[in-house]
Amino acid sequence: MAETNPFADAVTRLRAIAEAAEVADEIVETLSHPMATLAVTLPVRMDDGSLRHFPAYRCRYNDVLGPTKGGIRFHPEVSADEVQALALWMTIKCAVVGLPYGGGKGGVTVDPKPLSPMELERLSREYMRAFADFVGPQRDVPAPDVNTNARIMGWMADEYEVITRTRAPAVITGKPIVLGGSEGREEATGRGAFIVIQEWAAHAGTKIEGLRIAVQGFGNAGYHVARLLHDAGAKIVAVSDSRGAIFSDAGFDVESLYQEKQARRSLRAVYCDGSVCELVDHDQISNEELLELDVDLLVPAALGGVITAANAKRVRAAAIAEVANGPITHDADAILRDKGVVVLPDVLVNAGGVTVSWFEWVQNLQGYPWTLAMVRERLQERLSDAFATVARVANQRDIPLRDAAYVHAVQRIAAGLESQGTRKYFANESAE
Ligand code: NAD
Repeated sequence: MAETNPFADAVTRLRAIAEAAEVADEIVETLSHPMATLAVTLPVRMDDGSLRHFPAYRCRYNDVLGPTKGGIRFHPEVSADEVQALALWMTIKCAVVGLPYGGGKGGVTVDPKPLSPMELERLSREYMRAFADFVGPQRDVPAPDVNTNARIMGWMADEYEVITRTRAPAVITGKPIVLGGSEGREEATGRGAFIVIQEWAAHAGTKIEGLRIAVQGFGNAGYHVARLLHDAGAKIVAVSDSRGAIFSDAGFDVESLYQEKQARRSLRAVYCDGSVCELVDHDQISNEELLELDVDLLVPAALGGVITAANAKRVRAAAIAEVANGPITHDADAILRDKGVVVLPDVLVNAGGVTVSWFEWVQNLQGYPWTLAMVRERLQERLSDAFATVARVANQRDIPLRDAAYVHAVQRIAAGLESQGTRKYFANESAE
């Protein structure tokens, strides 16, 4: 998110779309400000004995519909503005799917890749030490995001329990299953995206089979959505990671790419038979070129702000499914709309992660783990319903899917805020 301020961009989009929601101005004003953002510095002892200091943040954006909920990101570009933008999107996302949550987000400005496992553990525990009073099972519930995973969530949950001298698995989601994590959480964001893409294809009268798809980012979310699309018969013609992209007109075998990436930690175009992997014909392309490929569906699944006013004109994909948070800036939206590109918005497409996080939290509070089949069935039901609602609002008002998702979410949040009274109510009361 280098060029534009991500939070300013997120608020501009909210204000522009919220007009169509026809809610009181003060509702939009309330949603234009974070409720609370805590910024701290984490001192962490390195293995060589030196002490380093990392800026860290946690934002509780709005909690009218329930405890705030959102991931923790470890990345060198994390800033207060990025965290607040992500927390605003979480507020919208939870309301789109109808979860009993508000939005939150957290992050540490760090490149975690050079850290040793013990440095990473110290950093993760330090994060929870700094924010233990800010989070809590009924207050603010973190989860994984870019460069954080189940093990990190497990360390943080453990640290919270040490500090509070309680068992409190519901303080954080995306934990290892043995520590109270949920079946199906790991794949949830990718599976959720797949469900939404399937629903959209059915709605548009298109088949997944044979679609040519490019996926930017081959991490947790990108891999799982690529795997499910590939299994459903789509051709994954390009994938990328932070080091670059590969392209093959014939399409890749996603599972082979994944095995190779796990084994060597780099993305190589291979086909694997058991443990034997052979290089397959491909072109090396840049991440920028991947975004401009002539494909049926483009799936940005890495970071935010990758499609901007600068490159939107060159996008040739017929549709874009935003698996990453905020990959398209507000001004790029208008350019894509003029070109007729269909955008499936992040606040719906990647909501599978927080939906299964909610399932995990419910399981932790009840002390009753669900089976993988239960998780998948309930995720399918929840996201199919959310897509149907958003598509209905879009059709009724003749607006794009993103606008429809925001209208639906803002109206839901407004109902919560209005139930506590608005200016109209209080002004009438005092006039009597
Ligand atoms: P991850 O850390 O598992 O994977 C990120 C991937 O992006 C890695 O493959 C990395 O190499 C790649 N990447 C980084 N910079 C890149 C660049 N400039 N070009 C191309 N690839 C690049 O993270 P993740 O959990 O899969 O998250 C990816 C996106 O999905 C983020 O925007 C995140 O906010 C969003 N998301 C994740 C979840 C979740 O549950 N994990 C839920 C909702 C949304």
